[in-house]
Amino acid sequence: MIFTQVSQAPADPILGLTDAFKADERPHKVNLGVGIYKNEAGQTPVLNSVKKAEAILLETEQTKNYLGIEGVLAYNQVVQSLLFGKDSQIITDKRAATAQAPGGTGALRVAAEFLLSNTVSRTIWVSNPTWANHQNIFETAGLTVKQYAYYVPETHDMDFDAMVEDLSNATAGDVVLLHGCCHNPTGIDLNIEQWKIIGQLCLEKSLLPLFDFAYQGFGVGIEEDAQGLRAVAAIVPELLVANSFSKNFGLYNERIGAVTLVAEDAETALRSFSQIKKTIRANYSNPPAHGGLIVSTILSNDELRAEWELELAEMRLRIAKMRTLFVDSLKAEGVEQDFSFISRQNGMFSFSGLNKQQVARLKDEFAIYIVGSGRISVAGLTQQNIPIVCKAIAQV
Ligand code: PLP
Repeated sequence: MIFTQVSQAPADPILGLTDAFKADERPHKVNLGVGIYKNEAGQTPVLNSVKKAEAILLETEQTKNYLGIEGVLAYNQVVQSLLFGKDSQIITDKRAATAQAPGGTGALRVAAEFLLSNTVSRTIWVSNPTWANHQNIFETAGLTVKQYAYYVPETHDMDFDAMVEDLSNATAGDVVLLHGCCHNPTGIDLNIEQWKIIGQLCLEKSLLPLFDFAYQGFGVGIEEDAQGLRAVAAIVPELLVANSFSKNFGLYNERIGAVTLVAEDAETALRSFSQIKKTIRANYSNPPAHGGLIVSTILSNDELRAEWELELAEMRLRIAKMRTLFVDSLKAEGVEQDFSFISRQNGMFSFSGLNKQQVARLKDEFAIYIVGSGRISVAGLTQQNIPIVCKAIAQV
């Protein structure tokens, strides 16, 4: 027998938690593990703009024929406008090439395989800490993963000097994974001056930035959140972006993202992109159409786009409100530890500072599910569950 020798794989640290949550029969359970937006009613509804785009598609769709390897062409154009700005010189100079990909995860995997087969890059630097799946994706693809300093638990803040120092020790050709905005899991982003310093460092040391951009619009705003990417792109001649629309369009299960390559000129972009297409062909041949059609329909229709922007702003503002309420409620529960840093962080997540034992007690005694690192998905908090969560935290 062959399969009898196969060992049990460990449960995914985040999705495994969701399985445990689903199996928990306690009625007051709260899931603050996986990064999914929930509204005040604790639901993750389909956006209205998405529903309307789907109605248009149902009406107008003529074929289920294969897409090209790079996916929906109109989608790839709107992705570039969102990333670099609609009047970006990168776009007019045709220095960017985009392929639709199955989610941000699919885009990261395509980027990793492209790097391995076509460049000298064998090493990718990720922040310490980073999204739990980064190491898994890059190592499975065959890259060596190294860490650069980022977060200091004691101060609940980043150590930018240490980050620069670590990246100064990287070798020419190494890849640097950067979170475009709403750093997962810490919620702490670089400011514009720091982005420029990182861009300059990449230029001087010949490091290749790979932006993971999964939360555009969840920080400050759609344009504002792209400032870091745009600042670096203005400095370095080439980079990669893996973006996702799972969160900002609520299209989690449609698996919709994109991988974008920026090269120093149009000819190099096109040639390098042929290798990205080769990678895709060997993996899943061509992407599923539905998510790409939804996003391109919304973004190329003024009315739907305006509605989507409002819906995104509503999600962003609700999370910001939950941050403040969470901090205030913890204080009101008599928690002495200072949690005010939570209201200064960006995006869906907060690195709460709760330790492994406290996280375990929250789950076992109070049915509150948080990732072992202490990362809380603030997007899962509601006015209703905040008192329950804060009371429990006060006890642990
Ligand atoms: N990158 C980061 C930082 C994420 O947090 C996530 C999702 O949680 C992704 C990428 C992947 O997104 P997707 O679900 O589109 O694959």
